[in-house]
Amino acid sequence: MEAFIKAYRQRLTAVVLALLAVLCFVTACGGGEKAELSEEQSAVADSSAKEQQKAGYGVYVDDAFVAALDNIEGAKKAIDDITAALVDVYGAPDGLHSLKNDVRFVKGDYDKTAFTNTDGLKELLGEVGSVYNFKLADIYGNAISTKLELLTTASEYLDQGIEYKTNTTKTDALAVGESVTVIEGKEGILREAYGLTYVNGMLTEKVLQNAVIVAEPVDAVVWEGSENSASLMAVDEKFTIPYDGRVSSWYGPRSLFGGNFHNGIDIIAHVGNCYGHEINAAADGVVVFSDWHSGYGLKVVIDHGDGLSTLYAHCSKSLVSVGDIVLKGQPVALIGTTGRVTGPHLHFGVMQDGVEVNPEPYIDWSTYNGSK
Ligand SMILES: [Zn+2]
Repeated sequence: MEAFIKAYRQRLTAVVLALLAVLCFVTACGGGEKAELSEEQSAVADSSAKEQQKAGYGVYVDDAFVAALDNIEGAKKAIDDITAALVDVYGAPDGLHSLKNDVRFVKGDYDKTAFTNTDGLKELLGEVGSVYNFKLADIYGNAISTKLELLTTASEYLDQGIEYKTNTTKTDALAVGESVTVIEGKEGILREAYGLTYVNGMLTEKVLQNAVIVAEPVDAVVWEGSENSASLMAVDEKFTIPYDGRVSSWYGPRSLFGGNFHNGIDIIAHVGNCYGHEINAAADGVVVFSDWHSGYGLKVVIDHGDGLSTLYAHCSKSLVSVGDIVLKGQPVALIGTTGRVTGPHLHFGVMQDGVEVNPEPYIDWSTYNGSK
């Protein structure tokens, strides 16, 4: 009996081992087949995914994929149309409009099901017919949690007035109590340029970009009569040459042997004839004489205040009247041949307290364009 049990145990062990061996073999073989199949399937899936894709432009709004389009022009047109629609929706002011959102077109391969056209993209971006519903979705129907916003930038110019000053000059060339506005004051213009930013038609930022003076103010000049001696000429100011010509005769005796005395200087043209040429005021002043005066012919006298005056003789025409305010360089008469002359020239005289003096030291010779 013991021998039978022993033999039975041995046989059982052999069977179990054999079964285990078979089991192991089957498992091993099965596993191998499975692995090979998986690789094949994967390869098929890859090629089918590639077949499912095509090249195009992916449209991303704030990093969310919306759809793909065949060409970038179609995608851009949709964005442009949407932007224009938003301008109407928000009643945005004139300016440069764009979407505030980060809109990107990314070239690449996309699933064929991700493709749409311009109108399709517009619908995905919330445009339904002529209405804009603001609900964005991707082409698979997923809601996109962002809202398209309209950014508008514009410029605005604002002109600010710049005050002018009034400079008052006291002069005895005018009677006490008399006041004359010699130069009208005029405000200057400061032009400010602002950069404006609107989001959805609402102003969100206004930044001063620059300010430029486009017109300087013109200071007013007023002369007031003074009872004290008060010159219209600045300290150290001298007369400018009233005619850009050549001095033909200086102040002093005409000849060494007496004869007549020349009480001014004569100026003629550098070249040719000076007849009819303009005579300019030697300094600011008030016209106190404009008439005929025997040997001087037609004469103009300008009072510069503080007893100093200038005279312009032998004129063919006077351009001013007594009481006129004249400024340095302003034409006051035309050169002529009136009075005692031998030819056309300007006789220029300077008077201090009514007495004719040598004009030479009163003239700013740097304005003289001839040899002295
Ligand atoms: Zn003369």
